[in-house]
Amino acid sequence: MINLSSLEIKNKNLVIRVDMNVPISGDKVLDTTRITACIPTINYALKNNAKILLVSHLGRPTESVFEDQFSLKPVAACLSEIIDESVEVVDQLDSKKIFNSASRVQILENIRFFKGEKDNSDELGSILGSLGHIYVFDAFGTAHRKQASTHSAIKHASIACAGLLMEKENSFLSQALNVDDRPYLAVIGGAKVSTKLELIKHISNVADHIIVGGGIANTFLKASGKNIGTSLVEDSMLDVAKNILNHKKIILPKRVVTSKTFKGENVNKKSIHDILESEMILDACLEQEVISLIYSAKTILWNGPMGVFENIYFEEGTRELAKAIATSEAFSIAGGGETLSAINKYIKLDDVSYCSTGGGAFLEFMEGKVLPSIEVLNSKEIGS
Ligand code: AMP
Repeated sequence: MINLSSLEIKNKNLVIRVDMNVPISGDKVLDTTRITACIPTINYALKNNAKILLVSHLGRPTESVFEDQFSLKPVAACLSEIIDESVEVVDQLDSKKIFNSASRVQILENIRFFKGEKDNSDELGSILGSLGHIYVFDAFGTAHRKQASTHSAIKHASIACAGLLMEKENSFLSQALNVDDRPYLAVIGGAKVSTKLELIKHISNVADHIIVGGGIANTFLKASGKNIGTSLVEDSMLDVAKNILNHKKIILPKRVVTSKTFKGENVNKKSIHDILESEMILDACLEQEVISLIYSAKTILWNGPMGVFENIYFEEGTRELAKAIATSEAFSIAGGGETLSAINKYIKLDDVSYCSTGGGAFLEFMEGKVLPSIEVLNSKEIGS
């Protein structure tokens, strides 16, 4: 993969695919994390006197329709404040107009307004790929989607490379798949086995131990013959769960927090052997065995909460897990939207060695898949 830092970009015109798909209310950006993640590449380009056209999607608009609620104008205003530089919004793919403008930083309106984005069209891809001198892909969060700006544009660009964020994601996440520093502990939680199945299968080939929590654990507990009352469960996954349990690497909760409702009535901490028919398991207690594994691990991968952490009655497992990971000396990697929310809630992003910006892309990378954007970036040579 060609990296931005290995190319001569002085005075060049760069088209940079970023992921600025942020939550917006009215004209206000509610969470700037994804915008901030793009700043190193933008600043690096500006320091080298390059001109920039940013390309991003926002939400799920209808293709070919310019809808105000999905406009990138609030993102442009927010970015402009962060980099202290004017950011012009353009809605035409006209290379001469764009790069003859006095603005050093411009942003194209939501790429999903443009026909051909979703279908990975060669036509849109070749326009995007030839707009500037170099097509820079820095949108790790969308690297698992095969669309015109994430695949075809890279294919058609005479020079395409990975931006600084993309380079960082690729290098840290690759480290978590090719681990030398053991013991390697994976902690996987969240709602459903079906969305994490491939991750659990792949990680069970590389990790030494896998701690399973959250709603996912319920399916494994039921598969191992436990009564889980009215807990969230995926009965269609029971056979798969039984097979995975044969690996012997899976560690399930022994004590849990139960309630009859999500509201926090009759909350009890109890052994997994004492669950009543009328109760749900809504959090997993962090056992001493798990804490010891966290402290003795050299590498930790974390995805998914241990319980319904959005509710104070069921947050303890996730909170204590986050704190234990923060104090462990292991090289730790976390990813996924809910996991990052939990990290922001209970510890700091800096307490984890690396927090990925990807949700779906992070999961697919960790499942051992080659993401479409990475595959096409890997195929590029200078001038191809
Ligand atoms: P995911 O996006 O798959 O990581 O799932 C995150 C969601 O799983 C969070 O919103 C949690 O509320 C939910 N969750 C975690 N544990 C449980 C549980 N025991 N029962 C129901 N939902 C859960």
